Amino acid sequence: MSLIVQKFGGSSVADAESIKRVAKRIVETRKAGNSVVVAVSAMGDTTDELVDLAHEVTPFPDPRELDMLLTTGERISMALLAMAIKSMGVDARSYTGSQAGMITDAQHGAARIVDVTPVRLREALDEGAIAIVAGFQGFNRDSRDITTLGRGGSDTTAVALAAALGADVCEIYTDVDGVFTADPRVVPRAHKLDVVTSEEMLELAASGAKVLHIRAVEYARRHGVTMHVRSSFNNHEGTWVVNSKEGDSVEEPIITGVAGDLSEAKITVAGVPDVPGKAAEIFTIVAKTGANIDMIVQNISAASTGLTDISFTLPKVEGEKVLASLRAEQNAVGFDALLFDDQIGKLSVVGAGMRSSAGVSAQLFRALSDAGINIEMISTSEIRISVVTRADTLQQAMRVVHAAFELDGEAEAVVYAGTGR
Ligand code: ASP
Ligand code: MG
Repeated sequence: MSLIVQKFGGSSVADAESIKRVAKRIVETRKAGNSVVVAVSAMGDTTDELVDLAHEVTPFPDPRELDMLLTTGERISMALLAMAIKSMGVDARSYTGSQAGMITDAQHGAARIVDVTPVRLREALDEGAIAIVAGFQGFNRDSRDITTLGRGGSDTTAVALAAALGADVCEIYTDVDGVFTADPRVVPRAHKLDVVTSEEMLELAASGAKVLHIRAVEYARRHGVTMHVRSSFNNHEGTWVVNSKEGDSVEEPIITGVAGDLSEAKITVAGVPDVPGKAAEIFTIVAKTGANIDMIVQNISAASTGLTDISFTLPKVEGEKVLASLRAEQNAVGFDALLFDDQIGKLSVVGAGMRSSAGVSAQLFRALSDAGINIEMISTSEIRISVVTRADTLQQAMRVVHAAFELDGEAEAVVYAGTGR
């Protein structure tokens, strides 16, 4: 008998009909002789609506109370799902995050899982019941408060449960068929990947691919959980996210996927004295804001002035506070000006095959230049190359790069109404 953890995202449980459909699917898995634990997200856009509601009440909702509010979304879907399953004659019980033993640190809105003690889930499974767990939420032992794991956190709940219970697989059900070589709404010729390594998946998720929550992939990688990302709207085989690809990977494509990201902005600190310690000063100021820096580029200094420019990218939403902090220290650091550019796009190509192939960057840059697309910044890791372009050329860039690396499928991908979340 296998133990399967299944996660259903908000779009898969958007209304009563969907909940019944998902319930049927869960029951089928149980009837096939498996033990089943389910992690479920809030129905449709519930979480967004609750966030909006909180902001109608106050511009700065108290973090503890916001978590209290947001966790109600998953409580609705878990209870409805358990009811639907029971009405089909199969035993099911719903559990909040704290009942399921999802222990986190105390950081409201971005709590990290510190322990999972699924005693009650084991009891339910031993009695042959299906355990339904509210995704995205946990409990802190010191504060004794309810926490949330951050937006999109239900994937992480599912993976953490799979790890703690020693599940055979963690199935992530969503509204797309799996992980694609690129977002099929942008690149119509994108095709579904049968297998992707967790290492590649991490880079893709970090580069803007939205199908999986990055923390869930990290967790799965660390705990050796195999994930299967698939559609809740059909029975097709999805994408297996594995820790290493088996067998000899002859003729493996160099590039596994192309990702685009419009969520970042670029800050340029212009006219920085080119002396030791200035980069340290600047990035210490930035680090104190808690902002997540992505790419950094320092230009060669002009010999005549001894000044240089340092540019970096960061999430757009963090732009304001970082600019303010830097502005406050302008005289101390001694730079000339700050420039803010929120019209950038980041394109990334990811593939483990890059390790053993030369000339991947050249091929990427050639494809972009043939399309007349200018590259503003470049960064690389062992299995990824990212470039910054103008925001309005990003989609075209993704298509030409996808074609250049021969990732284009035979036919256009079928795109459902979904969002991949
Ligand atoms: N309902 C939460 C959100 O929308 C968690 C999730 O969907 O994974 O962020
Ligand atoms: Mg959601």
